[in-house]
Amino acid sequence: MEEILLVEDDTGLSEGIALAFSQQPYAFTRCGTLAGAKAALQSKAFSLVILDLGLPDGSGLELCRLLRSQQNSVPVIFLTANDAEYSEVAALEAGGDDYITKPFSLAVLRARVTAALRRSQAPRAGCVAIGPFRFDFAALRFEKEGRELALSRTEQKLLQLLVTNRGQIVPRQTLLDKVWDGGEFVDENTLSVTVRRLRAKLEEDARKPRYIQTVYGVGYAWQEKSDE
Ligand code: CA
Repeated sequence: MEEILLVEDDTGLSEGIALAFSQQPYAFTRCGTLAGAKAALQSKAFSLVILDLGLPDGSGLELCRLLRSQQNSVPVIFLTANDAEYSEVAALEAGGDDYITKPFSLAVLRARVTAALRRSQAPRAGCVAIGPFRFDFAALRFEKEGRELALSRTEQKLLQLLVTNRGQIVPRQTLLDKVWDGGEFVDENTLSVTVRRLRAKLEEDARKPRYIQTVYGVGYAWQEKSDE
């Protein structure tokens, strides 16, 4: 199930969009303000954000810039009534992936969403290079500074979820569900232990992690900390 965040203050349009996707395996979280969107983004990881430009408490551009400044690479499709060229440029420069002008056909939006998800998921199967790391989730090869890391299958799955959602918090329950297939028979402590083992293999100092951050009471996030 792909989680999609829909930020649109026109309630009628927002309901229409959610309805247009009701046959698809997508779960929508809907909100009408920037504040609501920020709160939603704190609570879980999304596969895609549909973002209105003009919101009651500010511009969607602001939220998109914030996401990119947090290294969050979630695909963002802007919706706007403004078809001026400068507005499209601004949306793309803020880190948006696509831009749709109102009024639009829901079939077009559906196609654009599907395309954006496909593009964002393509690298999931392949290689990711971040800092000193090179992770190849297809070939199951993991390197740090050119040296191969030996990761267990569980550590690999956990790493893949964190890295593909980098910049976003992945809730503990999501990790338990996806890494341990359902997670119902797994002690929560198993997750903490697996994170500790992964940090010991990846981090210079596992007590002051630079990459795998704990978000207390919520989950974990791959978010690189700069030198203090
Ligand atoms: Ca609006």
